[in-house]
Amino acid sequence: MSQLIVEILEDVLGNSKKHYENKSQISFDCPVCSSIKGLDCGDGKGNLEVNYNHHVYKCWACSETHGTHGTINKLIRKYGNKTHLKQYQLVIPDNKRIIGEKEKVVINGLPKDFTSLTIDRDDNGYRQAIQYLKKRNIGLDLIKKYNLGYANTGDYRGRIIFPSYDSDGNINYFLGRSYEKYSKLKYKNPEVSKMGIIFNEGKINWDSNIYLVEGVFDHITLPNSIPMLGKVLNDLLFKKLIDCASAKVIIVLDNDAEKDAINLYRRLNSTKLNGRVLMVYMPKRFDLSDVHQRLGSKGVIKLITTAKRIKESLL
Ligand SMILES: [Zn+2]
Repeated sequence: MSQLIVEILEDVLGNSKKHYENKSQISFDCPVCSSIKGLDCGDGKGNLEVNYNHHVYKCWACSETHGTHGTINKLIRKYGNKTHLKQYQLVIPDNKRIIGEKEKVVINGLPKDFTSLTIDRDDNGYRQAIQYLKKRNIGLDLIKKYNLGYANTGDYRGRIIFPSYDSDGNINYFLGRSYEKYSKLKYKNPEVSKMGIIFNEGKINWDSNIYLVEGVFDHITLPNSIPMLGKVLNDLLFKKLIDCASAKVIIVLDNDAEKDAINLYRRLNSTKLNGRVLMVYMPKRFDLSDVHQRLGSKGVIKLITTAKRIKESLL
């Protein structure tokens, strides 16, 4: 059945980007994101993820602002034609949903070429990585705190590796950021979906104020922050915040994402977190890691203290 669904989806959305078969998850360029950018043939980002086991989809960039999420049925109704819809109805099982999770995919630790940056080394990769981090005002204290690494060989060669630890201290994800100026692919990540993880969950104190940020560089510059790895909260993190956050939740998104930030605020504030959600307005064209790069942690703290609630009338 899954192969048939994938074929229908590719017919509707064009070639797929990533396919995690054991998770029944496949990604495409989002038609809404692409049309906003005026691109007919996709934006190459692959932000739209479909889970054909659960029969749902979501765009990581624009689902909050453009409602790009829901059932596959809705997806095909919006972007496909009647034939697609008919084909889809024929291939899905009667009960529409396959009960029971397929085998959960967990990553098997860090890449085997991972080398910690905490120990001085006499090789070119090490020097370049340290230099890159230094330029972004990230010193040994943060390198140690987050166990940043690099690799001289393998898939993650030429990248700073950011490990993510789950609540048991096991690796549940990692990200590789290229330190080479002309790299085509800035970020590289493992073959598991980020929908199923909370980055560095193990480092979070749920009883303190929690900061929601976009990327890993924002994350490491702000203690007790969680990077959403995009502009949209995944359902797992949303639920966890509602269940576990006992202090404030403060949204610190990039300046270009104010709409997403307000949507996120509204969504969180309409749960039992009501009254405990705050927002930090970022200076124009800045993200948190820029603030840290120029002004250090003092600058970050100063900015964070400007967090405030949004007036009801503006929501
Ligand atoms: Zn989109």
